[in-house]
Amino acid sequence: MNYRVSNYFLEFKTPFAIAHGTRDGTDLVFLQISENSILANGEASLPPYLSETSLSVTDFINSFFENNKDVFFNLQDAISRLHNFKTGNFSAKACIDIALHNWYAAHAGITVWQMLGLKNEPLPLCTFTIGMGSKELIIKKVAEAIDFKILKVKLGGENDKEIINSIREITEKPLCVDVNQGWKRKEDALEMIHWLTEKNVLFIEQPLPKNNLDDALWLHEKSPLPIYADEAVQVPSDVAKIKDAYDGVNMKLMKCGGISEGIKFIAEARKHQLGVLIGSMSESGCAINAASQLSSLADWTDLDGPLLTKNNPFDVVRYGDGRVLLG
Ligand code: MG
Repeated sequence: MNYRVSNYFLEFKTPFAIAHGTRDGTDLVFLQISENSILANGEASLPPYLSETSLSVTDFINSFFENNKDVFFNLQDAISRLHNFKTGNFSAKACIDIALHNWYAAHAGITVWQMLGLKNEPLPLCTFTIGMGSKELIIKKVAEAIDFKILKVKLGGENDKEIINSIREITEKPLCVDVNQGWKRKEDALEMIHWLTEKNVLFIEQPLPKNNLDDALWLHEKSPLPIYADEAVQVPSDVAKIKDAYDGVNMKLMKCGGISEGIKFIAEARKHQLGVLIGSMSESGCAINAASQLSSLADWTDLDGPLLTKNNPFDVVRYGDGRVLLG
């Protein structure tokens, strides 16, 4: 078994602004594994507000393979060893988990969703993300989203109503609003949600800071719109803790450690009658393609990453009818 790790900087087409700040791109780590002449890729995405770095991911990968030289014995064994190998390191685990799933699927000559016994239907609608920005930029982004039926709008800044009004001047498409913890007072959040109720909004994602469960419960009880958790829920075992404060959850492979944990995360959400969004960090086609394999389990996907970046090295994700298509 051979493996190779490389660093990459994934650049946005336009600098991307959300409530955490603005940036030009995202550090990625790619892993390529090879065995029996089959190559397979994995990816870790490392936005700067999270604790993992290119170095920590590389160290984790080296350490894992050093200690698991016979990891190709079988997929279940490899995945179970991976998730029991050190705590945390979720993006690093996702990177290896994705590469292993891709390798085993390629070895069997089928897709990952087929290998997992999943379906390629129904395929949920995928959002196209409109970052914060000037009115001109917003108009440009909405025009780029012509093939998409729902838009994701980033709020939580100084001019939330202006952004929504700018969008509503040019399109009536349903909006998913992602606040990225940007509203600090529950009363202000409730007022904004009431205002948004008239604006054809499907749901509000992470309106309040992730650790304030009491305020989230208060808001959830009063909100006329569904509220989804993103930053407040990372791994499958978090879902039960927040289930009464949200209507749905955003599952990301980078948060929970990859495809195998992602399936558990979604199962846990369904057990508690929660909606499911499959989301992503800023990721290349490699990780987006991996997440899309679970599409049939979700109500919505937020997997437009390859369309927002200018140097995606994995041109493998296809879109059609406002959805991510599965091969
Ligand atoms: Mg989010």
